[in-house]
Amino acid sequence: MSAIETGAADGRPEVVRTVAELRARVGHWRRSGERVAMVPTMGALHDGHLSLVRIGYERADRVVVSIFVNPTQFGPNEDFKTYPRSEARDLELLELLGTDLVFAPLVGEMYPPDFSTKVVTGGAAVGLETDFRPHFFEGVATVVTKLLNACGPDVAVFGEKDYQQLCVVRQIVRDLGMPVEIVGAPTVREKDGLAMSSRNAYLDPRERSRAPVLHQVLRDVAESARTGGPVERAIDRAQTRLGAVGFGKIDYIEVRDAATLGPPGNGPQRVLAAAWLGRTRLIDNCAV
Ligand code: AMP
Repeated sequence: MSAIETGAADGRPEVVRTVAELRARVGHWRRSGERVAMVPTMGALHDGHLSLVRIGYERADRVVVSIFVNPTQFGPNEDFKTYPRSEARDLELLELLGTDLVFAPLVGEMYPPDFSTKVVTGGAAVGLETDFRPHFFEGVATVVTKLLNACGPDVAVFGEKDYQQLCVVRQIVRDLGMPVEIVGAPTVREKDGLAMSSRNAYLDPRERSRAPVLHQVLRDVAESARTGGPVERAIDRAQTRLGAVGFGKIDYIEVRDAATLGPPGNGPQRVLAAAWLGRTRLIDNCAV
C-alpha cells in the first residue's frame, strides 16, 4: 500500500480531525476488504492504551485510535481542564506500533452548538460509578456511540481497567444493535501492581508509593470471595488497610456478577473499587 493510500507520508500515523475524513479513510479500507479496529482513548497514552492497539492489530488489518478528552463525561468539579494532554508524544508512541490513523477531533466537531441528543444508560451502568459520578456513563455512552458511528469499525477494543465502562459499552452495542464486536483487554499494571492510568500522573511520590495497596486489597477480597469466605469481613479489612496507608474516602468496594454487574450469583464475579488518594480518585478491579 502506498503512502498516498495510507495517508502516512513519514511513518507518523495520519491525524484526521473531522468525521468526514475519518469515514473516507475507513470506508476506503473496508471497501478493499480490510478489517478495521478502533481504540477509543482520551490520550496521555501509556502501555495500557498501547496494549489495546496491539490487540487491535491481532483482530484487524487497520487500527484507528481516537484521542478525545470528552467534556460530557466530566462533572462540573472534575478535572476536564487539567486532564493530561500530550498529543505529540502520543503520536510518537502510536507511530512505534504502526498505527494507521488517529482521529483527534476538536470539541466542536463532536458537539456542535446545537448538539442535543444523549444516550441514556441503564443495566450495567446502575450503581458503582454512577452513585458517585451520576453524569459519567451518559457522557461515555454518548461519545462512544458517536465514535463508533463515525468510524464504523469491525472491532472496538476497551480495557478491563474500566470494567464497568466495558460492561456498559457491551450493553449499549447490544441494546442499540450496533454492528461492532467489543473486545475487552486485560489491565496493564506497573511492576508494583498499580493499574496504569493517565491520572496516576497526579500522584505525588508519597501517594504513588502507597497506591498499589488498592490492587492488593482487591486481590484479598477476590480471594475471600473465591474461597467462600465472609466477603463483608474481607471488605472491612480492605477498608481499614486502605485507611491505614493514607487513602481517604473509599467510594466503594463491591463484589458483583462479572457480566451484569448485578448482585453476585453463581456465575463469574468481579471485585470493583474506587477510592481517593489525596486529590486523585483511583479505580481498579479484579476477577474473582
Ligand atoms: P482512557 O484514555 O482513560 O479513556 O482509556 C482509554 C481506553 O484504555 C479504555 O478502554 C481504558 O479502559 C483503557 N485503559 C486505560 N488504562 C488501561 C490499563 N492500565 N490497561 C488496559 N487498558 C487500559
